[in-house]
Amino acid sequence: MMRELKYSEAVSKPDLGATAGLPSSERFGVALLDKLAVAPDVGSIWVLKPLLGFAALLLLVSFVGVSRSARAGEDSAPAAKKPARPPVVLSDEALRIHRAAPVIDGHNDLPWELRQKHQSLLSSIDLRQQQPTLQTDIPRLRQGGVGAQFWSAYVPADTARTGGAARQTLEQIDLIHRIVRQYPDVFEMAATADDVERIRAAGKIASLIGIEGGHSIENSLGVLRSFYELGARYMTLTHADTLDWADAATDAPRHGGLSLFGIEVVREMNRLGMLVDISHVSVDTMKAALRATKAPVIASHSSAYSIAQHPRNVPDEVLVLVKENRGVVMVNFFSGFVVPESAQVMADMFAAHRALRAKYTDDAEFKKALVAWQAAHPIAAGTVHDVVDHIEHIAKVAGAEHVGLGSDFDGVTKVPVQLEDVSCYPYITQELLNRGHSADEINGILGGNVLRALREAEQVARDWGNSADH
Ligand SMILES: [Zn+2]
Repeated sequence: MMRELKYSEAVSKPDLGATAGLPSSERFGVALLDKLAVAPDVGSIWVLKPLLGFAALLLLVSFVGVSRSARAGEDSAPAAKKPARPPVVLSDEALRIHRAAPVIDGHNDLPWELRQKHQSLLSSIDLRQQQPTLQTDIPRLRQGGVGAQFWSAYVPADTARTGGAARQTLEQIDLIHRIVRQYPDVFEMAATADDVERIRAAGKIASLIGIEGGHSIENSLGVLRSFYELGARYMTLTHADTLDWADAATDAPRHGGLSLFGIEVVREMNRLGMLVDISHVSVDTMKAALRATKAPVIASHSSAYSIAQHPRNVPDEVLVLVKENRGVVMVNFFSGFVVPESAQVMADMFAAHRALRAKYTDDAEFKKALVAWQAAHPIAAGTVHDVVDHIEHIAKVAGAEHVGLGSDFDGVTKVPVQLEDVSCYPYITQELLNRGHSADEINGILGGNVLRALREAEQVARDWGNSADH
């Protein structure tokens, strides 16, 4: 179950080891949260945008902002301690900066959603229409000014045990290619940073593939190389589980970071020109990857640990190393990673999960008890301000040239107010502008930085040549 598994993003560090050996579906089990904070009717308003004059748009946007804010106020009230920050209102200047920027998102799980909800049958869904059950569709990608998207070729980490990881990953890669072919006037596959710029200049959304978790290669560099040939331009070293060669942030460590083979994987990715992704991995793995790599790394969808203490987030000591590496940390929007109080609830939930697991041997009873616990401990959605807090923190510690966006849309169900879906990126631009960031800095954060990192990784691969023999 996609949603359920993706709640695995919520597992907490103090309990590392407590879950080792449990299958992921057990570990991350049960639906934690309600659906999107924004109701479908709000989305339908956005369809009208092209028909409206600019002044009317501004009015509408402020209305939507206020209405979204009011909803959040209701569902986050118990955790609210700080004074609420006002909704962000879009300005002409921010929209101008936004439209000029590449807007590249590091992680979107639409392909897995299509697999789960539509059996990977593109004939059963029209992405040109608003899709209230998704966070992503073509009208809202256009609304959000998205220029390039890394689509996630995610398959569950427990396929490492159950088998079929590489096959399922191939199916997800195939699905991404089919989406792009289904809407050729909207999407085009990009293999290089130059491709991204050319495709965006042509008014299309450059589509790249990210493999989410090294389990997908089934310990084979040949499979890794084949994924690259099929268009994969980053691979997250792990998902939720520690692998034979890399430790995950949310599992017991076994290697103190990367094994020798793990280092070889990083080197091979460098040689190919595939970005090394340090999201989901343990801090030791982050450091080991940064030691091993010759090219800039990315964290495709990770936020700042100093702001919200979740083990999936990147601590300051690593942010400093990312700066030296010329890498980019692309901020995740999931409420459980970005809102400090919500990250705490996640930690508590994990302890509760462990206690309930010990108490109930019957699976159904356990899940029922966990759902009840979760219902009694809702997490605050937060707002776009919380996400910008993470962006600013990373900019402060690593530099604004080392920050990007990695929403995790359609991989998580609780998202901040004014960041409910792929139409909402302009609010980030506006809030960065409100906080005094320059147009240049904002351009980099929205996508210029990751484009540079990809270009530098391509250069490392060219310099390396094709002499390495595996
Ligand atoms: Zn993820």
